[in-house]
Amino acid sequence: MHIIYLSILFILIGCTPNKAIDKKNFEEIIQQSTFRVDVSAPNLDKKHETSTLLVSCVDFRLRDETDKLMEKHLFLMDDYDEIALPGASLALVQTKYPHWNKTLKDLIGLIEKLHHIKRVIFLDHRGCGAYNLLQGKEHAATPEKETHSHKAVLDRAREILKKDFPKLKVYTLLMGLDGVVENIQ
Ligand SMILES: [Zn+2]
Repeated sequence: MHIIYLSILFILIGCTPNKAIDKKNFEEIIQQSTFRVDVSAPNLDKKHETSTLLVSCVDFRLRDETDKLMEKHLFLMDDYDEIALPGASLALVQTKYPHWNKTLKDLIGLIEKLHHIKRVIFLDHRGCGAYNLLQGKEHAATPEKETHSHKAVLDRAREILKKDFPKLKVYTLLMGLDGVVENIQ
């Protein structure tokens, strides 16, 4: 019996308090009246243009990997704007939510005007919930089918941009949940 009680106590001490502490810390931090985040450069207030707009998916799992792609692999730290909508390129191409198309086009136009971007990168990802929802889960029945599905949407997104924003160069990437990034052309 003691072993059972000790085991339960150990589990409670090992698991529950950590979550409680995390939550408490979160509340303490976010409710401070002010706090400071390290900035990457001292002259951010002097920057008014950027080369690139990234259109990514909202997926919480790939936030830090997306940052790494843009900053460590493509050397674009402090040199890109980002719009995150479910499905990335699919947000522009799908027809179920037409206001997503309009919002994305409006934002691309605004950002081109404000920040003088020269290029747009569409970053789709594998295992995408928005693709499952709007294209059907069978679109990803095999990795090849999933690639094909993304390629069709990315091709269409490229066509739309070529027509509506002819000055912008378009790049189309597909990131796996393992971090592998494929250039889809
Ligand atoms: Zn997604």
